[in-house]
Parts: sequence; structure tokens; C-alpha cells
Amino acid sequence: MSNKLKWISEELNHLHAQGLYNNIRTIESPQGAWIVVDGKRVLNFCSNNYLGLANDARLRDAAKRAIDQYGAGPAAVRSIAGTLALHRELEARLAKFKGVEATIVFQSGFTSNLGAISALVGKDDVIFSDELNHASIIDGGRLSGAKIVRYAHNDAGALDDAIKKEGDREGRPYTRALIISDGVFSMDGDIAPLPALVDIAEKHDVMLMIDDAHGEGVLGRGGRGIVDHFKMHGRVDIEIGTMSKAFGVVGGYVAGKNEIVEWLNQRGRPFLFSSALTAADTAACLASVDILESSTELVDKLWENARYFKSEMKKLGFDTGKSETPITPIMLGDEMLARKFSARLFEENVFAMPITYPTVAKGKARLRVMISAAHARADLDRGIEMFAKVGKELGVVR
Ligand SMILES: *Cc1c(COP(=O)(O)O)cnc(C)c1O
Repeated sequence: MSNKLKWISEELNHLHAQGLYNNIRTIESPQGAWIVVDGKRVLNFCSNNYLGLANDARLRDAAKRAIDQYGAGPAAVRSIAGTLALHRELEARLAKFKGVEATIVFQSGFTSNLGAISALVGKDDVIFSDELNHASIIDGGRLSGAKIVRYAHNDAGALDDAIKKEGDREGRPYTRALIISDGVFSMDGDIAPLPALVDIAEKHDVMLMIDDAHGEGVLGRGGRGIVDHFKMHGRVDIEIGTMSKAFGVVGGYVAGKNEIVEWLNQRGRPFLFSSALTAADTAACLASVDILESSTELVDKLWENARYFKSEMKKLGFDTGKSETPITPIMLGDEMLARKFSARLFEENVFAMPITYPTVAKGKARLRVMISAAHARADLDRGIEMFAKVGKELGVVR
């Protein structure tokens, strides 16, 4: 008998033994404040559905109409026969929403990062990357072949030193350089020090790229994102966006100056070699932009909910880490404790997934609570009550 796959079961057993095995739940309902998970109706604290748009009737209708008009499948990559008028319309609307010259739409935030980074830098170049950047940034950097220099999380001084050490301007040993940071960090909910990053990028004449996946629909006026939040319009060269979080659909985009977007239309590999975002998704994204542009109501509700939840959890004695956004980590440390806590909450009909290594460092396990505008005050109160109950039971709070 062949033994060549035995290593996989050994690795899986190892994950179980260390409390690192991720038990993936199955959802049997639309997204919302309450969802059906493995046959059970539970309070949803896990989705990136910040504004509750994932099951909004206006998005559903837009998607259905687009299917009737354009059909189900894209049948081609964007660069051959897959670019619909709808894609170009969405790109123009996103550019206006974000206050940039242009955008290019990809199939996801993940492919946006892979496509943008690998088109902007190559093997003679260097990337300065925050040590806690999202996996898709790390993978995009590796794919590009550029030298990757990691700097301490949100530490502008460390970034400045790293650029100096690599040799700036005259006599630098690389051709192009790119600073990349998440805007909002997805596991801690803290915000990048954008004004300082902009200053450093300008001082050293280095390209600056910010991944605004958790900032859109959350930060800035009416959810226009981190650049709007810090009023840094025109000073961030490349922004990455996703339509799979606050926008409630799926898809990604790159925003910036005309020449960057034109370059990615020619050289963005997921644009050239992977089929286009479907018409239904694109139309639903357009409906999201309409909603965001027409009112700040959902964004305001999101923040009201986030502030309330966080302050109540702190009063109970929970540690919510460094969060400045609706992403609310409940810091527990130990991996087994995080798993146990999550499992007990699930028994109490509250769905909050544990986040453990390798998503975060060993010993930094947490439950990550994702607050949404879809939560009613009573939903939050129910969640807080159950956190208090399980927290006392497991000795996390008194
Ligand atoms: C979620 C996320 C992505 C990936 O976006 P998808 O559209 O889900 O592929 C990329 N970057 C960051 C920072 C994210 O949080």
C-alpha cells in the first residue's frame, strides 16, 4: 500500500492535538443578525456583513435583473470578451465614491492584491510590508519576486528606518519600491497610521499601497474608507478594495491614478487569466454603491452598535485589545480556551469563531466579534449576556 499521503493525516492529527483544527461550520440561511448554522438558529457574530447588505432586497433584485439581461456566466476573461458595460459602470461609480481617478474591478480582494502587487513590482524591486498584513498581500508580494522587508506593526519609525537601510533615492540597490499596509487590521481592528505612512512614502519617493478591505463602508464619510477618514485624498497611490465585506456581495478592485488602472488593464494577471466577475455580482455591487451614496444611515448604525457592544464588554471586564473599529477581538490568549469559549457560546446559540494560530500569533488566541448594522440592540444585549455567562463559567471574567 502506498504511503505517500500519510503525512497529511499526521499533520491533521497534530492540528487536533494542539487545538488548531478549524471546525468549519455550514450555513443554511441567508446572512443576517441570526443565521442557521448546522441546523441551529444562532446570533451571528462572525460575518463581514458590516452594513447588513448581503441579503438586502435591493441587491437581490439588481442581481436577478442582471441575470435576465446578461445571463449567468461571464464566459470569458475581462481582457478577451468578458468586460461588460456593467463592469465599466461599476468601475466609474467606485472611482467617484472613493474620490480617485479610476478603478479596475477584479473577482475578489484576494485577486486584486495578487494582480496589483505583481504588476507593480518585480525581482529588482523591494516591498516594505507591515508584519500583520493580510495573507493576500503576503502572497502577492511573494508572487512578484520582489525582496520583502517586513516592518513592525503600525510603526512608522520602523518603516522609515527600513527604507533608509535599504538605501533610498540615489544609489539605491533596487529599481522600484512599494510600501503596503492594511488600512484596518482584520484580527485586531486597529487602524494604520496613514498620515505618517503618506509622509514617509512622499519623503522617500516610494509608492504607497493601502488595502482598505475593512475600511470601506466603515471609515470615512458615509463609509468612503480610510483615505477619506484621514483626508489624504490623492496621496495614496494604490488602494485595494473588496466588495465582499461591507458592500455585501463579492469582488475586489484597485483604485488610483489613471495610469495605474490602465497598467493593470494590461498586466493584472487575474484580469487577464481568470474569468470576469459575474453580471449578477456586478449589478448587486452597483446597488450597494447606490445605497452607500444615498444615505449614511447604515454606517451610523454600525458605529452606534460597535460603540455600545465594546463599552458593555469592557464594563464586564473583557479585554477587547487595540480595536478602534467594529472588529472586536475578545482576547483570551490560550488556544484551547478560545475553542472552549466558542463551543460553549454556540451551545447558548451565539456564533463567534475562535481565531488562533496561524491566523494570529501563538498565545494570542481570541474570539473575534464582528458587529453589523444588522444587529438590533436586543441582539447585542443577548450576545453580551451570553458572553458574561460563559466568561464567568470559564474564569475569564468575574
Ligand atoms: C478580506 C480581505 C481581503 C480579501 O478580500 P476578498 O474579497 O474576500 O477576497 C483582502 N485584504 C484584506 C485586508 C482583507 O481583510
